[in-house]
Amino acid sequence: MGKNPVATGKPKPAMSENDAASDYETVTGETCPVCHEKQLTLTEARKEIPFFGICYLFSMDCGACGYHKADIEAEEDRDPVKFTFTCENEEDLRVRVIKSASATVKIGQIGSIEPGEAANGYVTNIEGVINRIKTQVEHLKKAAEDEEDDETVTKAKNHLKKLTRILWGQEPCKIVISDPTGNSAIISPKAEKGKP
Ligand SMILES: [Zn+2]
Repeated sequence: MGKNPVATGKPKPAMSENDAASDYETVTGETCPVCHEKQLTLTEARKEIPFFGICYLFSMDCGACGYHKADIEAEEDRDPVKFTFTCENEEDLRVRVIKSASATVKIGQIGSIEPGEAANGYVTNIEGVINRIKTQVEHLKKAAEDEEDDETVTKAKNHLKKLTRILWGQEPCKIVISDPTGNSAIISPKAEKGKP
């Protein structure tokens, strides 16, 4: 270890405050597991997320059928985690969320995002998570309308009103993310970290 930091040969790329240097690798023309066309693009990016660490983002996108699969994995093995966060205002909506495909996300009594084969991993914020739940409730409402299930339609409408108030920062809401792989996090000093 030298006394002074020694410059390495490779110049550091310019980076924004929130977006540390990423190295992307892309492979195109792979066979899609769904439609079997050779139009699948695989992307792997190594990224450093402040207060989370170095992680890898993987994604598969098919240009023919639109198949999309993505996940995120921390560079080192992590213990199972559970984050609990109360979103109380507009500022809280911007809090960064890292959600792997193995994570379960719960928003109050309104809804949840479950892990599984079709689940994706991504980096988003609290607003992004709430919007995904909102889309789920909208689909649920539409299906219930088609089946003339009035009780479910009313319940879904009330949930949508509540979600809108949460998105306007007018109503507090508790968000819980648990991940047995430890590849998820809510990046805020207000978030409580524990065991699932
Ligand atoms: Zn395809």
